[in-house]
Amino acid sequence: MDLFEKCRQFYSEPEYAKRYGFPMSPRAAMAMGIFPYFIPIEHAEGTEVFIHGRKFIMIGSNNYVGLTNHPKVKEAAIEAVRKYGTSCTGSRFLNGTLDLHLELEARLAQYTGMEAALVFSTGFQVNLGSIPAIMDKDDIIITDREVHASIIDGVRMAKVLKNIQICTYKHNDPADLEAVLASLPAGPAKLVIVDGVFSMGGDIAKLPELIPICRKYGARFMSDDAHALGVLGGGRGTGWHFGMQKDVDLVMGTFSKSFASVGGFIAGPKEAVHFIQMFARPFMFSASLPPSNVATVLACLDVLEAEPERVERVNKVAARVRTELRAMGYNLGESETPIIPIVIGDSMKALEAWKIFFEAGIYTNLALPPSVPADMALLRTSYMATHTDEQIDRVLEVFHKVKDIVHIGG
Ligand code: PMP
Repeated sequence: MDLFEKCRQFYSEPEYAKRYGFPMSPRAAMAMGIFPYFIPIEHAEGTEVFIHGRKFIMIGSNNYVGLTNHPKVKEAAIEAVRKYGTSCTGSRFLNGTLDLHLELEARLAQYTGMEAALVFSTGFQVNLGSIPAIMDKDDIIITDREVHASIIDGVRMAKVLKNIQICTYKHNDPADLEAVLASLPAGPAKLVIVDGVFSMGGDIAKLPELIPICRKYGARFMSDDAHALGVLGGGRGTGWHFGMQKDVDLVMGTFSKSFASVGGFIAGPKEAVHFIQMFARPFMFSASLPPSNVATVLACLDVLEAEPERVERVNKVAARVRTELRAMGYNLGESETPIIPIVIGDSMKALEAWKIFFEAGIYTNLALPPSVPADMALLRTSYMATHTDEQIDRVLEVFHKVKDIVHIGG
């Protein structure tokens, strides 16, 4: 068969597209105007975006503390371009380390309460690189079943490169984690990995129960705080939320959410971070984070420290939305954060629901399997500190109006 035959089939044949979790072929969805991906945004003001000249309320962004348009943040990015240019054009190992990278690493270590931090060019690369780097032959990784794709791929990479063993436990289920750990041999080094805030469900990993189990079985604990930074623990992450920041061994974070940029970091004990710095291939063989992005994150940290009310505000907005949507009968799963999924179940019905909101001027994200478990298709909504009460009133009004149509099986 020709290499590109599968591409043609995926594009046009519904049965083939279904194998990949799509309810219909991309060609059919595009013809019907319901292809929900890659929609070009023409102009963005954070909580409002313009698409095909029409204004939408954005409830599909990870801009939790609303910093992408903060004047100090934008000015810092522009100033960094003036001073350093637009790119480092090289890896951190070679010509790609600026004084600014080191300043950011020191700030992130301080902010998360860890000994050291290391900045990567994307959050995905942090997991893809740090996990295989820190593991050794015959070590064991245990993850929650709903961790982010970048952790899954980091773990797969560790298996390919180092022949480590992979185990999973039921989503956010400490008893199952204990059963898995108890079944493993005591000798090998072990690492348990969770999303601090799960990226689709918006629920929080149960650190107070999970970490003592890790300690009991001598496993290290890593939290992916991509969605926890700027949101939990006064903005400092999941460990801080539970007053357990000293008990988390490794924290990863991204700059593509609350930190209004792109990039990511790993933080932990000095020698572990140094080891990752020396052996993480996506860190070693990829160009370093551009100066404007580094300066953006530094400015976000300044703003978060100066304006802690932003963190309170995003949680307040989200709490109101959760309460009102649950009262309307929407199924929000176990959400406790600004990530509020509208669980629909069936993929085709979720696509219909997405269209209903889109036509009503509300921008949400559609999550279909495999990015969510089978029969758990959902609309991923998320909220910002900068959403006004009036915008939230309008969002809730639309939710109320369409609830009987959208509840389709949810
Ligand atoms: N971890 C989690 C939990 C995420 O949700 C994401 C991105 N959606 C990443 C890691 C990867 O981050 P980035 O976008 O910075 O590559």
